[in-house]
Amino acid sequence: MNAQLTAYISLVCVSGVLNVYLSLYVFFKRHHYTNIARFFILHAVCITIYCIGAAFGLMATTIQEIKMWTVVQYIGMPFSAVYGLLFVMQYLGVQLSRKKVAALLFIPSITLIMVATNDLHHLHYRVYEVDPVLGAPFVRQEIGVWYIIHGIFTFASLFAALLLPVFQWKETARVYRPQLLSLMCGQIVPIVTAFIYLIGLTPPGFDPVPMVLWMSSLFYLWSISSSRLFTILPVAKDSIFHSINDGVMVLDESRRLIEFNQGCEEMFPRLSKSMFGMDFEKVWFTLSENSFPFHFEAAEQNRELTLMAGNTKHTYQIRTSPLQHANQIHGQLLIFTDITKLKEMQVQLEHQAYYDELTQVQNRRAFFKQAEHDFAKALKESEDYTVVLLDIDYFKKVNDTYGHHIGDRVLQHVAKVCQAQLNEGDVFARYGGEEFVLALKGCSAAEGRAAANRMRVQIEQHPLEVDGHILAVTASLGVAEAAKGPGETLTQLLNKADHALYQAKNSGRNQVWVYDDQENAALNFVKEEEARSGEPTST
Ligand code: GH3
Ligand code: MG
Ligand code: MG
Repeated sequence: MNAQLTAYISLVCVSGVLNVYLSLYVFFKRHHYTNIARFFILHAVCITIYCIGAAFGLMATTIQEIKMWTVVQYIGMPFSAVYGLLFVMQYLGVQLSRKKVAALLFIPSITLIMVATNDLHHLHYRVYEVDPVLGAPFVRQEIGVWYIIHGIFTFASLFAALLLPVFQWKETARVYRPQLLSLMCGQIVPIVTAFIYLIGLTPPGFDPVPMVLWMSSLFYLWSISSSRLFTILPVAKDSIFHSINDGVMVLDESRRLIEFNQGCEEMFPRLSKSMFGMDFEKVWFTLSENSFPFHFEAAEQNRELTLMAGNTKHTYQIRTSPLQHANQIHGQLLIFTDITKLKEMQVQLEHQAYYDELTQVQNRRAFFKQAEHDFAKALKESEDYTVVLLDIDYFKKVNDTYGHHIGDRVLQHVAKVCQAQLNEGDVFARYGGEEFVLALKGCSAAEGRAAANRMRVQIEQHPLEVDGHILAVTASLGVAEAAKGPGETLTQLLNKADHALYQAKNSGRNQVWVYDDQENAALNFVKEEEARSGEPTST
């Protein structure tokens, strides 16, 4: 065996051994990888078989041996191109059904049968014999029809596997581009070699492709070990990354921006790819004109942040989570969810929960929430605390005479008139049907009575105008001051006010009555002149 042949065999063996290594490496680590590992292993196994066939073919001494090892080569070679394409497709997120995979494997299967039975039909090789000049293991061949079909198909597969990453290039994040480049280089090597072989520029008599496949293997090996071809987000995940509505930013371990998705670009129009590699604090300052208010920590965090975008206020929920791999933090992931609408809805719901829809004053629930707190504080600090209950007089009559919708307008009108009389700290709410409640912090019964009377007078003096008619409205009010010292509850205090209100109603309406603790009864303080002047007289 001459030295040149030995060199050829050695190169083919290197390719074979590297592919055995690659297939075993990925096979044993397949659980860490995504399912693209399956096609990669099949690809590497096919290349290995191809190389074994080529190596033994180069050691053959008879045409029978050469033909046998050629068949072995064809068990691997035609399939390797298809598995290579399937591997790249899956890596880029292109999923194929089982049927389509089977269809892609159809021509390689026929090729294998054609080569194995070539002596019967000569469709693959018209002539396949020991080279009359060079002798075994070199061959002289004339290609047949099926060889052309097989050749076109194999080249098409290799080209498709090369072009797919090219089309994906722009959409691929910079950090994953070396992986793509490596995939393409792995594909270019056999394409270029096979092309040179076909135009007759390689030494005659044998197929040079297995001799250079070790280069493709090295590209893949480098990718796997250096850029974690299978473990770090492959391009397929990258497209998911860009399709989500949330804004996502990726920072490296030094807190520099290395990636963001389209959602983020839409949220922050000032964000640009020229900021890649920039310190995140600087990036954030450009985006918000503020420093980033949170610290990055080892655990996942959830925060809310409000930013002004022009004249509109946006509220974001920001999740920061460390990117961990093999117990090491490699960077940070920032996820921005625009919760502005959610917040608005929350405010609206809160408003609905605490405000009366018809009159837009606080409702009973809101009243108790605030009043319980104020009442407890007043008791604790021995401060005055007074409540007033207001009930519209003969309201049923309004409904019966003018209709329910006019009754509603009366309620809105009374609420508005009363609200105009409020001081800071007063709690005014719709207590029930046509009853309102007023809680006065730091006010004695006398002050409460004065406030109640002002309301009564204002209601009386502001009748409602409905379709040119004047609708007189009056109300009766009951006042009660909280007893000093513990023991009384807010409900008991309200009952006292209700008792006073009852007295006001019973005594002819349009009056203010105050509950008297000593008498244990309500007393009328409203005098005729008060009603007219709107000012209470001293009692
Ligand atoms: P009084 O002077 O004794 O208070 O007489 P009144 O007619 O006001 O007495 P009552 O409390 O029996 O009547 C209250 C009426 O208020 C009964 C109910 O139909 C009506 N009402 C309660 N809520 C609403 C509302 O939201 N809109 C309208 N239009 N009417 C309401
Ligand atoms: Mg009433
Ligand atoms: Mg009533």
